[in-house]
Amino acid sequence: MQSLREGGSIRARQLRANASSIRTGIQIVIVTVIYVVTAKLGLMMDAVAGFATLVWPPTGIALAALIIFGYRLWPGVALGAFLANTLTGASVLVALGIASGNVLEAVAGTCALRSIPGFQRCLERLRDVLALLVLVVTFSTTVSATMGVASLTLGGIVPPSQYGETWLVWWLGDVIGALIVAPLLLVWSVSIKCAKPRTFDLKLIGETCALTLSVVGLSLFVFGEPSVFGAYLFFLPLIWAALRFGQRGVVTTTFAVSIVAVSQTVFGRGPFVQEGLSDSLFALQTFMAVTAATFLILGSALAERQYFFLHEQQARTTAEAAVRSRDAFISVASHELRSPLSGLHLAMELFQRNPTIGDKEHTTQTAAKVSRQLQRMTRLVHNLLDVSRIRAGKLHLDYEQVDLGSIVRDVVARYEQDIQRSGSDVTITADSPIVGVWDPMRIEQIVTNLLSNALKYGSGMPIEIRVEGDDRTGRLIVRDNGIGIAAEDQSRIFEQFERIATSKTGGLGLGLWIVRQIASAVGGSIRVVSELGRGSTFNVELPRSPGYAP
Ligand code: ADP
Repeated sequence: MQSLREGGSIRARQLRANASSIRTGIQIVIVTVIYVVTAKLGLMMDAVAGFATLVWPPTGIALAALIIFGYRLWPGVALGAFLANTLTGASVLVALGIASGNVLEAVAGTCALRSIPGFQRCLERLRDVLALLVLVVTFSTTVSATMGVASLTLGGIVPPSQYGETWLVWWLGDVIGALIVAPLLLVWSVSIKCAKPRTFDLKLIGETCALTLSVVGLSLFVFGEPSVFGAYLFFLPLIWAALRFGQRGVVTTTFAVSIVAVSQTVFGRGPFVQEGLSDSLFALQTFMAVTAATFLILGSALAERQYFFLHEQQARTTAEAAVRSRDAFISVASHELRSPLSGLHLAMELFQRNPTIGDKEHTTQTAAKVSRQLQRMTRLVHNLLDVSRIRAGKLHLDYEQVDLGSIVRDVVARYEQDIQRSGSDVTITADSPIVGVWDPMRIEQIVTNLLSNALKYGSGMPIEIRVEGDDRTGRLIVRDNGIGIAAEDQSRIFEQFERIATSKTGGLGLGLWIVRQIASAVGGSIRVVSELGRGSTFNVELPRSPGYAP
């Protein structure tokens, strides 16, 4: 049986491993295909010596693929770069050199960004955007440009005298890929975390359409006009996108502007057009690199500002909630202390008004009333003191050998008058002495709190207290037939200051919390079974000796 199960789990593991390799294989093929297609598109843009182009989306695709899916996709980058270059006419050796540079670029860029503590793909932290700008733009893209152009020079495709010029073109093309394509993929690959998430509604659709129309309108205007200043008009929709749509708006608008600008410039239209296509593209891509960097920084700075405000707002709400719950507690506590005080006051006033010294029965009655109110106040004050003791971890336990049944009987005897007043009948069923090493005062407190709740919420119906146990555990069961507790409230009642809304005769909402704290301090537990309108049963388990506690 055992080996059958093991065999099954090994097979399941193998199946999972196979599925994961197939998934990786498919992802590598997808990266390769996208890499080749976008690379060929870029190489069509008047590439220097046929290989160094100013439009190179593959850098961004490779970087995003490795950051999102992990380093394991590097073969896709290698294969894509190798194929794209051999298809363009490079020898195997040159293509291998270029592909190595491209893989190193993606791996180094990914490694640099992943080394930033807490790097987030949504690029909503200024430090992540600065890392992208500084580490990727100055570091990893230079690796690819240096190795790529060196391969071309060694392969005799680019003369050494043109190394510098070709290098600059290669590097700028890669920088654009890293600044425009990678952020687009990275930001859209995560669920929105923006501090001010916008709900998808008609207003949002309307505003998105308006932003799109403004980009289209500006494109028609700017590219029908040769003045270079016209290009700066694109800052308007970019600012709009940053302010209203966050980083997603920024990366999408920048990408859209870039596509329009590159295609128009290639067709010889617009402010960037110069003598040759590569000069035009150089002017355009320099502008696009600065624009992309500026708006990525703006987008992240705005997002950070929103986080800051949201955080402040949350802190304020929490502080207000704390003040509200403190006020509520003070009001409930004062109310609870006032009731026995009023009772005491009344009893003493009656006693004063009737000079019945000598009337033994009257004196006894008054003394009993006073004693009851004092008992109630003492219990309240004890509960309050216990809260601070438990919170400070200073719940002191004095262990001695005691019988659970005797404690229950003592408490019930002490509460005789309250029991009579409540109209409930309390029966105690105790097995032969359930003796354990407990702190009698604390056990008494458990019994008292459960009994007083049963009297308060027992609707005058019979109450049953059972004491039972086995060798290791003593069990106290308090069962009433009163108002009961709704299922959804049953876990809440053991929390501090929790009182169920329907309870009119509630106290401070501390009794059950204290019971649970005491029970768990001795390694025991408490649970409740209850049905609304039918009553509740509280079951407390106490290990008979501290050594038995789990
Ligand atoms: P309280 O001082 O309000 O009684 P507890 O912590 O003892 O505080 O109880 C928390 C809440 O649990 C009570 O306010 C009441 O709503 C509910 N509760 C406790 N015991 C019972 C019971 N035996 N029957 C019904 N509801 C109960």
